[in-house]
Amino acid sequence: MVSYKQLCARCKKNMVLIVGRSQFPLCYDCQKSELSGKISDPKMKKLFNVPEDFYRQSSFLRSIKSGYLRFGKLSDKQIEAFKNTVERLKNPPVEPQQH
Ligand SMILES: [Zn+2]
Repeated sequence: MVSYKQLCARCKKNMVLIVGRSQFPLCYDCQKSELSGKISDPKMKKLFNVPEDFYRQSSFLRSIKSGYLRFGKLSDKQIEAFKNTVERLKNPPVEPQQH
């Protein structure tokens, strides 16, 4: 999967790791407020109950959660992709990292 870093489109200070298809680059700090909404569905609550650090690392997880908070629903595909991304963050593939 393609991943690259892009400067946050809002603050133009922090780099955002973009994985896969192009997304609007927003860093954790800028998106944090969008992620603090209340979730009443217990199933979704459980889904989004992952370490805060995962949201910090993954703009994809942030975009899914903010999308859910905005629209109140997710497709099965999005839920699946969310879970897969969390799994990958729990068990990162061993590959050389460039810094
Ligand atoms: Zn930012």
